[in-house]
Amino acid sequence: MENHYIDETIFNLPSVGLSDKDRLDALDIFHKYIDIKKNHFLGYQNCSKLDYVNDLKDFLEYHINNIGDPFSPGYFAMNSKILEKAVLDYYAALWNAKKPHDPGDKDSYWGYVLTMGSTEGNLYGLWNARDYLSGKKLVIDDVKECNSRCRQTIPKTRYSEAAYEKHNPNAFTPVIFFSQDTHYSIIKAARVLEINTPYEIGAKKYPGENPLSKTGEWTRDLTEVPSVKGPEGTGSIDIEKLKILVEFFASKGHPVIVSCNLGTTFKGAYDDVEKVGKTLMPVFEKYGLINRKIIYDEKGDEDIRNGYWIHIDGALGAAYLPYLEMAYKQEKLGAQGPVFDFRLPFVSSIVMSGHKWIGSPWPCGVFMTKTGCQLYPPDNPDYIGSMDTTFAGSRNGMSSIILWNYLAKNSYEKQIEKALNCENLARYAEEKLREVQESYPDLDLWIERTPLSLTVRFRKPNDRIVAKHTLSCETLIANGEERTYAHIFTMNSVSKENIDEFAKDLLAPDAYTQGDIESSLKKINVQGYGFKSEFGRGWR
Ligand SMILES: *Cc1c(COP(=O)(O)O)cnc(C)c1O
Repeated sequence: MENHYIDETIFNLPSVGLSDKDRLDALDIFHKYIDIKKNHFLGYQNCSKLDYVNDLKDFLEYHINNIGDPFSPGYFAMNSKILEKAVLDYYAALWNAKKPHDPGDKDSYWGYVLTMGSTEGNLYGLWNARDYLSGKKLVIDDVKECNSRCRQTIPKTRYSEAAYEKHNPNAFTPVIFFSQDTHYSIIKAARVLEINTPYEIGAKKYPGENPLSKTGEWTRDLTEVPSVKGPEGTGSIDIEKLKILVEFFASKGHPVIVSCNLGTTFKGAYDDVEKVGKTLMPVFEKYGLINRKIIYDEKGDEDIRNGYWIHIDGALGAAYLPYLEMAYKQEKLGAQGPVFDFRLPFVSSIVMSGHKWIGSPWPCGVFMTKTGCQLYPPDNPDYIGSMDTTFAGSRNGMSSIILWNYLAKNSYEKQIEKALNCENLARYAEEKLREVQESYPDLDLWIERTPLSLTVRFRKPNDRIVAKHTLSCETLIANGEERTYAHIFTMNSVSKENIDEFAKDLLAPDAYTQGDIESSLKKINVQGYGFKSEFGRGWR
């Protein structure tokens, strides 16, 4: 939508290229545009206060590529794996995993810095979960010394699969459970990986047996597990309903994947991971999903592993909840979020985005699991000289430098302060919006904030305000009616002044009159955000 504001033709690339002047002018206009957007950026959970140019600009002169496993240097020497390992150790400590990574220690962590954001981490985590639960052979099963060139211990490449279990044909067909507030990357990953959701496999294999419905019929909404009080609730998974569904499929012999949210995308809500685990462990126990013995086709080869996988989608929350917990322990905050990390023995994997809480200039993130749960990598290519254990081939080596620099500059104390600031700002934004509500006696603005979240949601204002503040919007069925909400996130880059200006915009006479996009764009020009006069050529 933003592109409507710019004359796109100035960016056309003719075969002869552009003159230096036209090229620099175009970049200048784009710079001004992106800067305006940055200064009013409220709608997404990305910190847009970045501070990397001075320290790191010189690295743009290098192609830094962390291809292959972070823990083996490989042949591609222009990498930042030294920094990547330091970043991973930092998060292993923050998330209470056993460190350092040790290929011979099943309990130690393993992970890598993602080239995409949490979408890649979710895809990788669920791939790992699927192969683990469907009895594919794991990395740890077969360690041997590598040749002298790569100076490391790596597993031998060999594929192996669990033997068919006559007494339980479902033993290696996992079912995935996640709440209706879950990010779309999880359902995308489930589709790519062909992991069954309750609805898909229920309707096909167990018609008339839906344990949550009086008629037993499976409806499409059971692709997801209901959240507490549905769309009107705070956004946390309904653990009672989760238990009923998990028990149903476990009783049919299926292994179980649960994806928990830590900071849902729209409501910023947290699933109570500890309660999820404590509720489900007795179910797993009852149906033999703890320490299952896996027998392979090959003679005498067996493995003991769990028949469940609990994945934590902490795209936003895993990055700051530990600091809120520290603040709580220091009595600087009256509540803390759920415990979600490797202190809970049933947690199998965690993902986090680097561009959300931290604010990196491009998407990145961290994936972490335990060495004993690692995927058997598809190959051990001689070409790169290190295990191909990651999702991408080439990996962005700059991301590890960005994350490392940020973590080196921001002590736990600083991060606690930032987390408290954001938390206070969210409370402030909620108060401000409630003040705005007083000016609308006849219109319910549906203002809500999930406790401890960094976001406030409310009735979507007109498109001009949505565009100005880059709001994100979502339509939910609540109270039997279709409601289109918008939300703001109070990240570290947001100031009280931003909130005040936003609240003031909501008081405009047409704030809640929806014009079509074209007319609201005209309003932007008419009302003089100064795009045209300030920037001259290139803006309409
Ligand atoms: C943003 C988000 C994702 C996806 O992360 P990307 O970094 O955009 O790939 C996944 N899960 C949740 C809960 C998110 O908020």
